[in-house]
Amino acid sequence: MQQKKLSSFLALACGLLAALPAHALQVVATLPSLAALAKEVAGPHAQVEAMLSPRQDPHYADAKPSLVLALNRADLLIFNGLELEVGWLPGLVRQARNPKILPGAAGSFDASRFVQKLHVPATLDRAQGDIHPGGNPHFAWDPRAGAAIAEGLGRALGQADPAHAADYQKNAAELAGRLRALAASEQKRFQALAAPQRQVAVYHDSLVYLVDWLGLQQVTTVEPRPGIPPDPAHLAKVIGQLKAVHGLALLQEEYYPRSASDQVVRLAGGRVAVLQGGARFSEGQRYDEYVRGLAAAVFAAITSK
Ligand SMILES: [Zn+2]
Repeated sequence: MQQKKLSSFLALACGLLAALPAHALQVVATLPSLAALAKEVAGPHAQVEAMLSPRQDPHYADAKPSLVLALNRADLLIFNGLELEVGWLPGLVRQARNPKILPGAAGSFDASRFVQKLHVPATLDRAQGDIHPGGNPHFAWDPRAGAAIAEGLGRALGQADPAHAADYQKNAAELAGRLRALAASEQKRFQALAAPQRQVAVYHDSLVYLVDWLGLQQVTTVEPRPGIPPDPAHLAKVIGQLKAVHGLALLQEEYYPRSASDQVVRLAGGRVAVLQGGARFSEGQRYDEYVRGLAAAVFAAITSK
């Protein structure tokens, strides 16, 4: 009996090993949402890893040795770009000593190159806070951006692994098509709402792509400038703005502190809607499931009274 169990276990283990291609591409993505896109485009031909958790603020990351090791083995590094990871990624890439993923190398994939950028500052003044000179970097929750990135990934994966180029291209085209259809249908659903209902407040200035996609109107931000926590004077101003339009939804990602937002809605009315910071990639969530869930959470928040 034991013998039988052991042999069936071994058969299962061998079956699993055989299912993994011998030379699977090693793909590392900074954000879990980018990892989810890559996983769908790559299919069974790549091993995809995310460096950050969706519950982590992507502006920051600890320089963990496991991240350096992952980068050292990577054939392709996918990062957001527009300086989102500028505080931590360059140092890790240097430590990884992997020429394939150095800036400018074929294995260095800057997702922002494929995206239509919003909020490109006309003047560069760091006194304005955590300003990103190439444009707002927080596009990972916009399925229109996701579609363009998927197409770029189809080409990049094909270059890294020409034997499966046709598969990557096909998967990318299918995914991009599905994401554009999803973007359009959600857009329609939000457009049907009255204009005042589409007004929102946000915590960090990170939802501009979401606001643009769903046709929302961003009334104010709880942070006075990106990356700068609110002081009492700014909070008073935000509370005044929200009282004037009464009962707005205040949107923020799960990794930002809640206390200032809670105080705002306590005094001004409305409600805080906490949004998932990225696809739950390690739990198997797909990118389209993630963005659909985001739109549903925003819709519920702005239509509940
Ligand atoms: Zn930011």
